[in-house]
Amino acid sequence: TDVQPLLRLRGVDSWYGHIQCLHGVSMEVMPGQLVALVGSNGAGKTTLLKTISGLQPLRGGSIELDGQTLGKLPAHRRVGRGIAHCPEGRCVFGDLSVDENLRLGGQTRPKAEVERELERMYQLFPALANRRKEHAGLLSGGQQQMLAIGRALMSQPRLLLLDEPSMGLAPLIVEEVFSIIANLRRDGMTILLVEQNAHEALPLADWAYVLESGRIVHEGRGAALMDDPMVRAAYLGLG
Ligand code: ATP
Repeated sequence: TDVQPLLRLRGVDSWYGHIQCLHGVSMEVMPGQLVALVGSNGAGKTTLLKTISGLQPLRGGSIELDGQTLGKLPAHRRVGRGIAHCPEGRCVFGDLSVDENLRLGGQTRPKAEVERELERMYQLFPALANRRKEHAGLLSGGQQQMLAIGRALMSQPRLLLLDEPSMGLAPLIVEEVFSIIANLRRDGMTILLVEQNAHEALPLADWAYVLESGRIVHEGRGAALMDDPMVRAAYLGLG
């Protein structure tokens, strides 16, 4: 077919000082797909997302969005190109209101669009609508996660990078977060989802990659990886 990947990584290397943490990572995310990246603690998943969003320097290989190489484009310019990064640990600004947190995500957009998107976010996350003026630090963990996703969506991205959205949340809230992610995908958002929670992430994923010690060691349809003996043993605790 002539459909081009929205995101394409070729041989991506990344280092922290003298230590290489990504080794020739190649992957593709097709438009409208939800792609999961699973792997254990310290495998390099967060580093990979940071390299895509420009928070971590690329030392080798290339990253293309829509066929255009991102090169050394700084992180804020990548937001303008359509890449939104919802970081691990949510990182909402606790002393700012819910409203102010959301507005921060819309900085690259014209003012009129920000107002419209803000209302759209409150429809998407009704729990936040009642608490617009409250400090984000007073929200529950689940609500802070919704806020972090909403803030990322405010830039009207073409590609949403989600880092461990289920981390530290109670099981019921985890279900809620994953149902929001499934809805975003259904509405056409392209998503690269980093998760240690392979049980939840793989069934949702059109395609999934397994990262181990900075290398892609496995890939396949999300549902197919659920049945893979290696994945079952290492990431689903079903050995
Ligand atoms: P986690 O889910 O725990 O965040 P991860 O798969 O996202 O794991 P990374 O956080 O990307 O893994 O870390 C990859 C490797 O790089 C690890 O060995 C980690 O210790 C190391 N590392 C991460 N951040 C830094 C840093 N700022 N300086 C030096 N080494 C780092």
